[in-house]
Amino acid sequence: MSDRIAPRDDLTALEGYHSPQLDVSVRLNTNESPFPPPPGFVDAWLEELGTVPLHRYPDRSARGLRSAIGESIGQPPPRVFCANGSNEVLQTLLLSYGGTGRRALVFEPTYALHSHIARITGTEVIVGSRRDDFGVDPDSARALIEQHQPEIVFLCSPNNPTGTVDPPATVAAILDAAPGLVIVDEAYGEFARESALDLVDDDRALVVTRTYSKVWSLAALRLGFCVAPPWVVAELEKVVLPYHLDVSTQLAGITALRFRAEMEARIALLVEERERLFAALDELDGVTVFPSGANFLLFRVSTGPGGEDRGHAVWEAMVERGVLVRDFSRWPGVEDCLRVTVGTAAENTAFLSALKDILREHGAR
Ligand code: PMP
Repeated sequence: MSDRIAPRDDLTALEGYHSPQLDVSVRLNTNESPFPPPPGFVDAWLEELGTVPLHRYPDRSARGLRSAIGESIGQPPPRVFCANGSNEVLQTLLLSYGGTGRRALVFEPTYALHSHIARITGTEVIVGSRRDDFGVDPDSARALIEQHQPEIVFLCSPNNPTGTVDPPATVAAILDAAPGLVIVDEAYGEFARESALDLVDDDRALVVTRTYSKVWSLAALRLGFCVAPPWVVAELEKVVLPYHLDVSTQLAGITALRFRAEMEARIALLVEERERLFAALDELDGVTVFPSGANFLLFRVSTGPGGEDRGHAVWEAMVERGVLVRDFSRWPGVEDCLRVTVGTAAENTAFLSALKDILREHGAR
């Protein structure tokens, strides 16, 4: 008889990544697209899939998908690496360039998975902080980089959960100072005006990650990619499991790109809705909303139920009204803040009216 075996010592203190999935009518908590893929996509994808010999392994290096993505963003295919969601891209980057004795620098508050995956891979996490406007300050970033010499620096632009966009000049300054890889997570890049994609070249240690989960309405299929120098892509290919990306995902990624015009129209619509939500939140007493280049908005509540724990109390009151947003109210740096994903116009209106009701009940105008 054996006792239960414990996991690695460095994993025992780690908690899993959780985002509550509640059964409510308005779900604005996980930054997905509110729209299913365009009509025609599923038929076109299934038609492609019908021609595939399913008894054979898929193309291990996803050549067709890499060329299609490369062409769509003006990058050569050897700079493209694809995986099951951008989370798997991040994990592969950390497996290749992080690990025991190595360091990754993050600027909090930011996407929790950067430090979570870093820790899982045994990488030490160095935590820098953001300015009050949630931007990364190039001078303090440079000082931290000089002090800790991290093998990896994570930026996230637009940043989750704050929506803040780092201008290319900030990325360039950090790239200049960093001794190792700079990874810019652009999961929401299509919603922003500025991107670091054009800074990627064959010599710079810059990686930009993107996903099909948001703009491309394919969160259920799990597809993400990065654009990086070919020498980085070669290392990622060594580390990732063989045949990790199944044929249906590869074909979905290629087929989706045929619907670019529809996707661009959706981006425009969601950006318009984001601005409508921003203006409406900005007018509310007791609410501070932060500028966002993403398909979500972070806002702080300074009035409402719950006393000291008012952010969480407002979140609960929203759930009672059938509206689920993401609760960041107990996170350091974003206390009393909630994050709302931009949904359809009707969902956004339902969100606004629930929030207004809650605040009105608690004395705000
Ligand atoms: N990066 C950021 C900043 C995200 O917010 C998300 C999704 N929550 C991801 C990466 C992961 O996306 P996926 O694995 O679905 O591509």
